[in-house]
This record gives sequence, structure tokens and C-alpha cells, in this order.
Amino acid sequence: TAVNVPQAPEDPLFGLMAAYRKDPSDKKVDLGIGAYRDDNAKPWILPVVRKADDILKNDPELNHEYLPIAGLPQYTSAAQKLILGADSPAIKDNRVASFQTISGTGAVHLGALFLAKFHPHQQPRPTVYLSDPTWANHNQIFTNVGLSIAKYPYFSRETKGLDIEGMVSALNNAPAGSIIVLHACAHNPTGVDPSPDQWKRIAEVVRAKNHFPFFDCAYQGFASGDLARDAWAIRYFVEQGFETCIAQSFAKNFGLYGERAGAYHFVSPPNQPDNSIQHIASQLAILQRSEISNPPAYGSRIASIILNDPKLFSEWEEDLRTMSGRIAEMRKGLRSRLEARQTPGSWEHITSQIGMFSFTGLSEKQVQILREKWHIYMTKNGRISMAGLNSHNIDYVAEAIDSVVRE
Ligand code: PMP
Repeated sequence: TAVNVPQAPEDPLFGLMAAYRKDPSDKKVDLGIGAYRDDNAKPWILPVVRKADDILKNDPELNHEYLPIAGLPQYTSAAQKLILGADSPAIKDNRVASFQTISGTGAVHLGALFLAKFHPHQQPRPTVYLSDPTWANHNQIFTNVGLSIAKYPYFSRETKGLDIEGMVSALNNAPAGSIIVLHACAHNPTGVDPSPDQWKRIAEVVRAKNHFPFFDCAYQGFASGDLARDAWAIRYFVEQGFETCIAQSFAKNFGLYGERAGAYHFVSPPNQPDNSIQHIASQLAILQRSEISNPPAYGSRIASIILNDPKLFSEWEEDLRTMSGRIAEMRKGLRSRLEARQTPGSWEHITSQIGMFSFTGLSEKQVQILREKWHIYMTKNGRISMAGLNSHNIDYVAEAIDSVVRE
């Protein structure tokens, strides 16, 4: 018999993009997808990426052969140093297995698949705890590999900040040995990150309950403009000797969205048998081979050229500051415009939140009016992509938000 399946819902974010494209209004504003835009609402190719592209094009050795299963070695080792720090104890002790993946999504998937097969706790399968709310794709990636998912409180609607007490108590009540997914920085969708002291409390409960911390890092350097600062939490957990893993994306910080450059790093704790990290790498290789055989070359070549050249690396840091700086300007600009209009409510969270997004607190109804009456597009949870704002539309967006809040 033929398969008989129900119609699946459209991906909400990609559906939103399609609706935006169809809208003929010349006033329309796209605050939906998390991709950087310049002040003219155009995609921005980082100047350093253009340079790396030229280097690549002029390389007489370049060909289209397959990469190794684990990816381009000079790329994965540079990616490892970037996230863990060049002097990381885990790198020195040879306790890290790194694989090039299909961007951050592929890295989360590879990690999920690996843990579904090998995580020792709660036989036969551990539960995966996700922040409430989280990047919507987390739910389906972990569910698709057969793991069950649960939520821990994260965002407080009252303070529009972190619900640290709710989070710690949920992690404390979770069955021992659960997998805890943590956004390394620039939490999506809320823009709310734990402070270093709050991260220490999270580490304590993760330790006490023997949980497995799984970091998702999609915005290193893009959040604060400072690569080390955005990796602080991960480096802290590694210094504390946790067994952990990291899904790393270069989509946002290199602007390489469609090239799908990412990496998955598994970090073993200290004092494991000598060959345990090789065992882990060998199993990851089997999974990678069966899923994608070997990763795509182009994006990783670009990133690798930049990461391995000190001069290009510092130019990249400059580009990161350009992007994070423009976003910070837009945060200040939107907040000050709403405050100047005395729009009801507090707008302080727009500048205290970090990264690509602001979780505005606008209701689903208000989001709908913004879309239908004002042609301003955002996800229905009230999340706006800050990079969609620019000097040409920020007054209009402030006027629209003011109007729907008063309605
Ligand atoms: N995790 C989070 C939290 C994200 O926000 C994103 C980007 N939207 C990703 C992972 C992965 O994106 P990509 O596969 O494009 O690297």
C-alpha cells in the first residue's frame, strides 16, 4: 500500500518570509528572519569574506574533491580554538573530537543523534531539557532522533529577563542524567543571557544532578562583538571539567548563511582512558558518513582562510564589531523613540537584551495588526530581528509599535 500521510504545517519562519515577499507595499519592513542586514536592508557580505573568496578563487591547487568525513582539518582545529580558547585545557589534553557539520543545525543534529545512541543515562533514552522558549527547531531536531523533550523555565514575562530561580529549580527536579540544552550566548528568541554568576549556579545544579550540558552557539562574536566574551560560559564549563558538547554555527558571524559552515565538538572530561576520545570520534564518523558522507567545502574554506591568518582574523573582528555595533545602535534608537513617544510600558529590555533579536513583549494580536495594517513582519511571539531595523525605517516602526500598544 502507498504511504498515506497528513499535510504537515508550513515552517512558520519561512512562511513569514514568503508573506513578506508577496506584500506589494513600499512601506513593508522585514523583522522576521535572523539574518544580518545593512542600513539599506540589504544582505551584507563581510569585507573579510570577500577577501578570502578572492584568495580561494586564485588558488591554483583548488579542486572539487570530497573533503574528509570529519571535514577540513585546518577548519575544525581553528573552530575548536575559536570556541574553547587557544589555551584550553581540553585541547591541550587532546580531549576534543571535532566534526565539520551542515552549519549549526547539522551540528545540533549530529550531537542529538550521537547522544540518542550513546548517552548512558536513563536507559533506554535520556530526556532533553530545552529552555522555554527556545529556537523552534530544537524541538523537532531532538524529537526526530527519538529523544523525548521537556522544558525548563527561562524567560520571565514580568521582568523580561531571566527566570533564574525557575530555571535552577527545574534543572534540580529533572531526572538525574538529563541532557540540558543551553544557548551559549545571545539566546534565541529572547536575547536574554545568564550573567557569569548565574552561569555558575547553572553549572552547580548541572554538576549536582549529573546532567549533560549541550551548548548551542550560533552567535559567537555577533552578540557582544567580543569573541572571548561570547564564549565565556562554554569555557567556564570546560574549565570546570564537564563532559559537554558544542554545536557551533558560522552562519551569522561570517555571514555565510547559505554555505552551511558549522562544527560539532565533543569534549570529554579530564582523566578518561587514553583512547576514549578516539572511540567517540570513530562513532561520530560512522554517523556522519551515513547522514551526509562528508560536509560541503566552500564555506569551510572561506572560514578556514580567515581563522588561520592573523591579519584576516583581526579584520574579521572589525567586521563583527560593525555588525554588533549597528545592532546596538538600533536597540538604543528604538528604545529612545518609544520612550520619547511615552509608549505605554517599559522599553528598557530592548537595550538590555543581546544579539540578533529582541523579545518585545508584543502580543500575538498586536503582531497581527502590525503585519496587516503596517506591513511590518515579525514572528507571532513578538520577536523582532534587530538587523531588520535601519535609519530609514526605525521611525516608522516606532510609530507603528506605539500605535498598536495604545490600540
Ligand atoms: N541554534 C540557534 C539557537 C539558532 O538561532 C540558529 C540560527 N537560527 C541555529 C542554531 C542554526 O542555524 P544554522 O543552521 O543556520 O547555522
